[in-house]
Amino acid sequence: MTQPQANIGVVGLAVMGSNLARNLASREGNTVAVFNRSYEKTETLITDHPEAGFIATSTYDEFAAALQKPRTAIIMVQAGRGTDAVIDALTTVFEPGDIIVDGGNALFTDTIRREAAVRATGINFVGAGISGGEEGALNGPSIMPGGSAEAWETLGPILRSIAAVADGEPCVTHVGTDGAGHFVKMIHNGIEYADMQLIAEAYDLLRRVGGLEPAEIAEIFAEWNRGELESYLIEITAEVLKQVDATTGKPLVDVILDQAGAKGTGAWTVQSALDLGVPVSGIAEAVFARSLSSKPAQRLAARDLPGAVDAWEVSDRAAFVEDVRRALYASKIIAYSQGFDAIVAGAEQYDWDIRKGEIAKIWRAGCIIRAQFLNRITEAYADDPELVALVTAPYFADAVAGALPSWRRVVSGAALAGIPTPTFASSLSYYDGLRADRLPAALVQGQRDFFGAHTYERVDREGTFHTLWSGDRSEISAADAH
Ligand code: NAP
Repeated sequence: MTQPQANIGVVGLAVMGSNLARNLASREGNTVAVFNRSYEKTETLITDHPEAGFIATSTYDEFAAALQKPRTAIIMVQAGRGTDAVIDALTTVFEPGDIIVDGGNALFTDTIRREAAVRATGINFVGAGISGGEEGALNGPSIMPGGSAEAWETLGPILRSIAAVADGEPCVTHVGTDGAGHFVKMIHNGIEYADMQLIAEAYDLLRRVGGLEPAEIAEIFAEWNRGELESYLIEITAEVLKQVDATTGKPLVDVILDQAGAKGTGAWTVQSALDLGVPVSGIAEAVFARSLSSKPAQRLAARDLPGAVDAWEVSDRAAFVEDVRRALYASKIIAYSQGFDAIVAGAEQYDWDIRKGEIAKIWRAGCIIRAQFLNRITEAYADDPELVALVTAPYFADAVAGALPSWRRVVSGAALAGIPTPTFASSLSYYDGLRADRLPAALVQGQRDFFGAHTYERVDREGTFHTLWSGDRSEISAADAH
C-alpha cells in the first residue's frame, strides 16, 4: 500500500470548496486530497487545475487513505443535512485524533451539537466560519475557527497559510471552543447586513433629497472610501452605482428589481440576540428592511398612502452630503457596537474566551466587512479590555459626538420628508436610549406590576415591591405580599 501523501483534504467541490482547495494547494508544503459526492466535480477540478497536484479520491475510504495522520479534512458542502451526511461518513473512516473542519455556514448551535457528538468518537470537530465568498476562498478568506485547542495546534498553521493578510498578520485566530467560530461568523454577517443597509439609506438620501444621479453618487462613495469610511462595501458600492445597463443604457441600479434577498444569517443573528437579550436594533432593522422590500403586494397596496409633510429643500448640497456621510459613520459605529455586545453576551452564555480585539483584527481583510476602521476597535479593546460598550470608547464616543448634529438633521429631515431610514433612525434611538439618564422603563415596570403583580425595585430602597393598586396601602414589599 502506498504512503498517504496529503496533509489536508477538502470534501465538497462546488464553488467554495474548489476555490479553497486551490488556495490550499497553492501554498508551499501542502498536498491536498479532494473528494466530492458526485465524481464529476472532482474530475472537472483536477482536469482544469493540473498545476495544483490534487490527489483525487472517489470514495470516503480512498479519501481517508490519502491523508497523513492526524488526518485533517475541511468540509465545504451544503449546510444542514449535507454537513451531517459528510460528518457521518467521515467519522466511520477517520480515527481518534483526526480533525474534521466544517467550513460551511452552519448555525452555531448545530456546531455545538456536532462537536459534542464527534468528540465522543475521539475525533476533533472544528466549526470554522469562512468569509469572503468565492474570491476570498481562492485568494485568502477571513477564517473564524472554533473547536478544541488540540485541533488548533494542527490546524492553525494550515489555516494561517491560506488566510487573507492584513498589515502582515493572517486573518485567522482560534475564536473559542465548539460553536464560537460559527457564532462570530454569524455576527459578522449580521453586521454586514447593517453596513449594507446603512449604505443603501445614504444612497437613497443622496438620490432623492440631494438630486444626484447614480454616477455622481458613485464619485461620492469613491471619495468617502478615501476617508474614515474606507471599506470593501463602500468601494463596491461605487462600482455598482457606476455600472450602466448594456440593454437600456440606464444606470444598472435603476433596472434591478428593488427586492433584496437573504440567505438567513442576518435573521440568525437577530434571533440569537433576542435569545441573549441583546438589542441589536440596527442589524434587526437591516434584516427587516430586506423583508419589507420583498413584500410587493403590501407595497402596492400602500403606495398611495400619504407621505411627506415637509419637502426637504437642500440649499447647500456639499453640506448635505457631509451630513449624510457623518450620519452613516455614526450609525455604523452603533452597528459594530451592537455586534460586539452580541459577541460578549454569546461568550458569556456559552463560556467562550473570545478576545474581541482579535476578532476585529481578523475582519480587517478577506471578509465582506473588511475596513481600516476595525483597527480602531482592536485599539479600543486593547486600551480597555473590560469596555462595556464600544460606542463609549473615547475614539468612538468622540466620533459620534462630532457626527451628532448631522445625524439628527438627517434622521429628522428624512422623517419629515417621508423617506425611510430605518437603520439610521433606530441607531440614533438606540444611542439616545443608552445615554438617557432615566428611561420610561420605570412606567413599563409599573404597568407590569399593575396587571401581573410582576413587582419592581425602587431607586431609594433595597428590596422588591408590589403595589396594591386599588387598595389603601400604596405599596408593600414583595416578601410581605407573598
Ligand atoms: P453549496 O451549493 O452550498 O453545496 C454544494 C456542495 O454540497 C456540492 O459539493 C454537493 O455535492 C455537496 N453536498 C450537498 N449535499 C450533500 C450530501 N448529502 N453529501 C455530500 N455532499 C453533499 O456549495 P457552496 O456554495 O460552495 O458552499 C459551500 C458551503 O460554504 C455552504 O455551507 C455555504 O453556506 C458556505 N459558504 C458559501 C459562501 C458563498 O459565497 N457561496 C460563502 C461563505 C460560506 P454534489 O456535487 O454531489 O451535489
